[in-house]
Amino acid sequence: TVRQDAIKTIATTHHDLSRIDFRTTHIKDLFGVNVFGEDEQRQRLPKPVFKALQKTIKLGVPLDPTVADAVASAMKDWAIEHGATHYTHLFQPLTGLTAEKHDSFVNPSGTGGGLAEFSGKELIQGEPDASSFPSGGIRATFEARGYTAWDPTSPAYIRENPNGATLVIPTAFVSWTGEALDKKTPLLRSMEALSTQAIRILKLFGHDNVKKVFTTVGPEQEYFLIDKNFLYARPDLITSGRTLFGAKPPKGQELEDQYFGTIPERVLACMADCEAEMFKLGIPVKTRHNEVAPSQYEIAPIFEDSNLACDHNQLTMDVMRRTAEKYGLVCLLHEKPFAGINGSGKHNNFSMATDSGENLLNPGTNPHDNAQFLVFCVAVIRAVAKYPELLRVTVASAGNDHRLGANEAPPAIMSIFLGDQLQDVMDQLEAGALKSTKQGGHMEVGVTVLPKLPRDAGDRNRTSPFAFTGNKFEFRAVGSWFSIAGPNTVLNTIVAESLDYIATQLETAIKGGKPLNKAIQDLLQGIIKESKKVVFNGDGYTDEWHAEAEKRGLPNLKNAVDAFPIIIRKDSIELFAKYKVFSERELNSRYMIFSESYVKTITIEANTMLAMAKTMILPAALKYQTEVAQAVTSTKAAGVENTAQLDLLKELTATITGFQAATSALCKAVHHHAEGDAYAHAKYARDAVVPKMVDLRTLGDKLETIVSDELWPLPTYREMLFIK
Ligand code: ADP
Ligand code: MG
Repeated sequence: TVRQDAIKTIATTHHDLSRIDFRTTHIKDLFGVNVFGEDEQRQRLPKPVFKALQKTIKLGVPLDPTVADAVASAMKDWAIEHGATHYTHLFQPLTGLTAEKHDSFVNPSGTGGGLAEFSGKELIQGEPDASSFPSGGIRATFEARGYTAWDPTSPAYIRENPNGATLVIPTAFVSWTGEALDKKTPLLRSMEALSTQAIRILKLFGHDNVKKVFTTVGPEQEYFLIDKNFLYARPDLITSGRTLFGAKPPKGQELEDQYFGTIPERVLACMADCEAEMFKLGIPVKTRHNEVAPSQYEIAPIFEDSNLACDHNQLTMDVMRRTAEKYGLVCLLHEKPFAGINGSGKHNNFSMATDSGENLLNPGTNPHDNAQFLVFCVAVIRAVAKYPELLRVTVASAGNDHRLGANEAPPAIMSIFLGDQLQDVMDQLEAGALKSTKQGGHMEVGVTVLPKLPRDAGDRNRTSPFAFTGNKFEFRAVGSWFSIAGPNTVLNTIVAESLDYIATQLETAIKGGKPLNKAIQDLLQGIIKESKKVVFNGDGYTDEWHAEAEKRGLPNLKNAVDAFPIIIRKDSIELFAKYKVFSERELNSRYMIFSESYVKTITIEANTMLAMAKTMILPAALKYQTEVAQAVTSTKAAGVENTAQLDLLKELTATITGFQAATSALCKAVHHHAEGDAYAHAKYARDAVVPKMVDLRTLGDKLETIVSDELWPLPTYREMLFIK
């Protein structure tokens, strides 16, 4: 079988694990070499051009078009020196992936090939044929054009390939009517909204010199690496990135011997190669380790501003997938590639920082700074308490449905973990300056020094979807395959709304003659009272929490389909319009695209299951059934009574019959043409198709435990997860 071939190949293949040697190539010589970054710009651009560009990059000042030609020309020279033959405007369509079309730098002329001009215009704007990207109804076919617009805040870079290189220019992707067709545009808009509101708050604290506030993100990325040969034998991994069949292996993660364990050599070599690639691209990758499940790992960078972090995370996933191939591995980024063991997420560490790098969620060492910290921290708490459903919908997908709430990932109920110390501070604030809490604390804004807040990596915060971890919040519900643009766009917007509210209240109180600290104290007291229902410091995996959350009235949107409509609810439309992040049309388009993509995912999975059931599992089961039947007959002919054999035949036959019935039922469900719009189809897929997939899988997995191993065509969990 293909399966046996796969194992034989793995056992006999030798991999070159010494492609990267950091003893001869030091990482400090690698970092950023393929990036047209600040140093390169300084060296290559005339001083006024460099200054104008930096102003755009650092402060978001619109770029003077006259400067663009000079930038383009320098960029082209630099790229060609690095072996580039083509350039591309890279964008992030609503598929959540990246898209690109390459244009050559060479311009054939009458006298032979000449180097093309790469003008400022070509740098600033591109026009890919965008008609086959999802637009959710924004683009009618007659206006099926969108254009890409250079994002100077994310540096251009060189991507090497075996034959040369491509200059990659990060861009936003918009329709001619100005609507965002991508994930980057709303993210940039949301960062702008947050910056405006945060600056109002900072002014109240006397920080008049801050020109911009950035949101910062450090995404920890989980993934699986398995041998590539298994992929060839698993149609489900090829088409849907996850196993649709597969019985529970005798050994899973119960021995807890994987987390932080020694990294296998081939995997380590692959990681080193990924890191070298990422260093060259200026991605500040920092940590690597084994994750909880067998063959599961994590990579984490140092945080950057959200836009850059998002671009870099897309690149990280791309580099990992491509590098894995060099080592005969496949990088699985699906949220749940294997049932019964942990899935993969992306922990989105979030904070806000001024243009001089001050982290606004860093508790201060003096009372004045503390007051500022408390304002920003409470703003985030208020945002999550007010918009938990919006946060939930940013992590909704068919893939993440297998993870959220499945007792190993944070539950689908959005709540915040604060930890004991910060909780005590909040209790004191809520109780008011003059009352003390049960711990005997007494908190006066602007007077009290905060207790030291530990960077709690404790067990309980691991079960929380949104945890305060000392100087940042960690949003842990994001799926491993997601672009982090969506979650951060929403996070930024809801926090901007909170900061707006707080700034307005404080400004009014101060105008009325209240001292700042008193105004803060009074305001925060009220906000904490209103918002504390979302705070939960216990174990989020327990049934008690689900019951308690229900009592508190916290929403529990159990699956993606339940969550999608939130983005077109009246209050959501108003919120995003107010901060100019999404128009109603843009939200509607996302609602359509989420629904469509859910249906497509389920349909592809169902059809893959049917193919596997009919052409792989059933034939193996029938063959075995025949073998057993023959054994029964010949034993009987020999005059021996064997009830065990007969029982096996009966069990096998019953399971096969059930399996065939389940196959027909799924086939019927998936081929039924449901009425209505994309959302109605999504509901149908969830209610009518998914349960039939579960039924079919249960019986398929049962057959795996009965049918002769010799005949079984699919690599098993035991093999895929443990043969390295
Ligand atoms: P752990 O979560 O394992 O305790 P760390 O707290 O050091 O590890 O960092 C986890 C991630 O959070 C890293 O990607 C790190 O860069 C990021 N991070 C740290 N500080 C911030 C911040 N101010 N804003 C955003 N992300 C941050
Ligand atoms: Mg962490």
